[in-house]
Amino acid sequence: MNMIDLPDLKAKLWHQMRHDLKSLVPWFADNDLLLCPACCRPLRFDEFSLEHIIPQQALACDPLDVRDAVPRNERSGMTLMCRKPLVIKGRKIPGHGCNSWKGKFYDASLRDLIRADFQRKQLNSRHQIALFSAGYLALFRQFGYQIALLPSGLLMRNQFFHPNSFLRDVPLSCQVVLAGERLRSYEEGNREYWSEPFKITVDGASAFIVLRNMVLNLPLSRDPKLPLARALPYAPSKYAFRPDLRTAFE
Ligand SMILES: [Zn+2]
Repeated sequence: MNMIDLPDLKAKLWHQMRHDLKSLVPWFADNDLLLCPACCRPLRFDEFSLEHIIPQQALACDPLDVRDAVPRNERSGMTLMCRKPLVIKGRKIPGHGCNSWKGKFYDASLRDLIRADFQRKQLNSRHQIALFSAGYLALFRQFGYQIALLPSGLLMRNQFFHPNSFLRDVPLSCQVVLAGERLRSYEEGNREYWSEPFKITVDGASAFIVLRNMVLNLPLSRDPKLPLARALPYAPSKYAFRPDLRTAFE
């Protein structure tokens, strides 16, 4: 995909995400708004921009043969995030919303991780929370708004706005990163390593996210692969879905 295709990609993601959101929260059928997956504010199309989950500055560190063989958007994982300035506890945050927040607090750490030699690299909590937040966006990208609107989604959205230390409610098992040696060149047999950055396995109350040579665990209040009761007046609790629409900082 080249740069000319990006406006089309934004519109495509917008329609996909609106379709998903309307199926969970019918109120959105009567307007033209979408929730930002991080701050959860309902916003208009022009208040969103494309987000490379693995930032472009990290992808620029990929070996030349990889950059030639696999397009950048394929290596990054794309979603939409807001660009409307954030106001947290009455204070206007400079920059363009959650897009700038991720850029400011997490993108340099993600670049560090992508090119790290884990035999020598010491991880700090910012690295871990950067990976946790990228993992949350990857989970959202795969399973949609039910991820964002579950209690576990509220916890992960809250964590996104606390870049310096893990919140008390984040399980210890989700504060660990396992890492192996990274690949350093492109071959036909390893295309999958470079192309789709996130491989996700759901196991009951948690999700395992593989990002290239790293693995982390994220909390889940329900298995997003289970069917959802969208129209029934009553459904057993494991099929029910009660969206939590609180923004991360209220
Ligand atoms: Zn936002």
